[in-house]
Amino acid sequence: MAFRFEIIKKDPFSKARLGRIETNHGSFSTPAFLPVGTQGTVKSLTPEELVEVGVEVILGNTYHLYLRPGHETIGRLGGLHTFIHWNRPILTDSGGYQIFSLSKLRKISDDGVTFQSHIDGSLHYLTPEKVVEIQRTLGSDIAMVLDECIPYPSPYEYVKASTSLTTQWATRSLEIRKETDPALFAIVQGGMYQDLREESAQTLVKMDFQGYAIGGVSVGEPKSLMRSVLEWTTSFLPENAPRYLMGVGTPEDILEAVMMGIDLFDCVLPTRNARNGMLFTSIGKMSIKQAQYAEDERPVDEICACYTCRHYSRAYLRHLYLANEILSSRLNTIHNLYYYMNFIKGIQEAIREGHLLDFHKTHCSHPNGLEPEDSAHRLSTWG
Ligand SMILES: [Zn+2]
Repeated sequence: MAFRFEIIKKDPFSKARLGRIETNHGSFSTPAFLPVGTQGTVKSLTPEELVEVGVEVILGNTYHLYLRPGHETIGRLGGLHTFIHWNRPILTDSGGYQIFSLSKLRKISDDGVTFQSHIDGSLHYLTPEKVVEIQRTLGSDIAMVLDECIPYPSPYEYVKASTSLTTQWATRSLEIRKETDPALFAIVQGGMYQDLREESAQTLVKMDFQGYAIGGVSVGEPKSLMRSVLEWTTSFLPENAPRYLMGVGTPEDILEAVMMGIDLFDCVLPTRNARNGMLFTSIGKMSIKQAQYAEDERPVDEICACYTCRHYSRAYLRHLYLANEILSSRLNTIHNLYYYMNFIKGIQEAIREGHLLDFHKTHCSHPNGLEPEDSAHRLSTWG
């Protein structure tokens, strides 16, 4: 499978990189944000609408697609791109996180993991090899290895053993890789322990992966700890491979991580918040249900050029939300994803022009961050 990562420009004042990833389904610029298409759809939008808001690559959840409708069914129907009518790049996760967060009766052995489906209670057994095979059948462009997601906080000895298992699983995933397979990314684990993070990164880097993800962050730890994990990890990752921070985050988290050398992000935040009436704007977060918008004729964000802001008032969006109309989710998702894609494009442009520090200063005067109580939730599970 064609896969190429090229760094176009490095920011002289931070570790940020502007790059481009080529796949069999076209190329995309990095830093990139991947909206989450949990069950073969980015909730409430058509692929054409995703393209219109500037989306270049999406994420699909292996766990969900394996359970329903089944990867073999999708394979027989022409693969995931054909099945969901999306001809641009797709990254699929390994399902590891969902197995550990959604399924019941999970039992892990060195060989693999047994779990009960959250849908119908049926029993399933997945190995690292099977997870590669599922993603091969789906026909994704970038596949992830199976990993054990470590909760926070966890004791050192457990994290050490779990990280070692994830590394063994990564080795086995590489051993069965075929020439035509998706690009395969390893996942650095190691919890919140510096020596385990370093060991995990150093061991995986010696193997032949096409990219590296940093897993096990955004699991409820304080932000300062996430920054430390990024520092410990990225210094051991090769310059010439993409780096993917799984499940992150707010625009501010993304910008900070870009400045620490991260290239890829996925998060349910823009789409899930949209359905909850929480909108990202250039002057901070907006809860559209508030009474103050009842007769507000202005668009959500007066400097936003999205379809929603071009045609609808805050008053109408508030009404749709309170009336529980389907259009509420659609219009809010269009706006939030447009905001995220525009934000990412702004970062790319700032790196290209050498203005990233200015961009950071301007943006952080109007934060769209999470409320403190939100930070305990991992965000990449549901689209
Ligand atoms: Zn808008």
